[in-house]
Amino acid sequence: MVPRWLTRALTAAGTAVAVLSALAGCTAHDSGTITVGVKFDQPGLSIKKPDGTLSGFDVDVARYVAGRLGYPPDRITWIEAPSGQREMLLRNGQVDYIVASYSITDARRQRVDFAGPYLRTGQSLLVRADHDDITGTASLQNHKKLCSVSGSTPAQRIKDRYPGVQLQRYDTYAACIEALRNGAIDAVTTDDVILAGFAAQSPGAFKLVGEPFSTELYGIGLKKGRDGLRDRINSAIAEMENDGAWRTAFLANFGAAGISVPAPPPIEQP
Ligand code: GLU
Repeated sequence: MVPRWLTRALTAAGTAVAVLSALAGCTAHDSGTITVGVKFDQPGLSIKKPDGTLSGFDVDVARYVAGRLGYPPDRITWIEAPSGQREMLLRNGQVDYIVASYSITDARRQRVDFAGPYLRTGQSLLVRADHDDITGTASLQNHKKLCSVSGSTPAQRIKDRYPGVQLQRYDTYAACIEALRNGAIDAVTTDDVILAGFAAQSPGAFKLVGEPFSTELYGIGLKKGRDGLRDRINSAIAEMENDGAWRTAFLANFGAAGISVPAPPPIEQP
């Protein structure tokens, strides 16, 4: 406990907040900033615009959480967190948390911790709008060329369950989308919110086919053992869901993609 005389003196000096949060162990870095990992190239979820600013549902979640942890937008440092590098970025301490279409899985839980989940989605398929060969997972076996991303759950699922598919693994979904556009591959597979975001960005070019064939629960990734931070992030997610900001963010980022607002999944009790 900080003695009252000290608090008063510090308030007078205008530094109470900084000192108190440091005493509570809240500050991630001495510089007073928090470092957050996101994707830079997933429209709807998280995209870096030409002017350098970021927007998307994951970015809104990440900003809301940072705000609740005491970091206004100008004290957030953003780092790109590609699918295949997320566990490494967390384990090396290069980021404080990751909000990057990051599915909670038992395999990942061996290496990192998760707050949330904050969104439920499922693996699906995106094809060119004029293409009718692939209508769902049943049509995947005939040596179809599918693109997904290294280190992602959808790539792993295709490898494990659909051995007849020629799987091409790229570093980003944006690269898969370009390959789909120019005909180098037949379909892109990943979570339907990601695919819907790309489809909305190029009206008339692509379509989602079939039903989602997995359940992906997006969590906020953390370094193992940061239990205090995880609890505070869980409270921030609950608050975002309860005060309407979650719904507003979903509509703002996916309204154009025509996805109706889902119910947020229940937050796990650690
Ligand atoms: N949600 C899946 C995953 O965490 C796919 C999306 C992604 O690669 O970011 O692997």
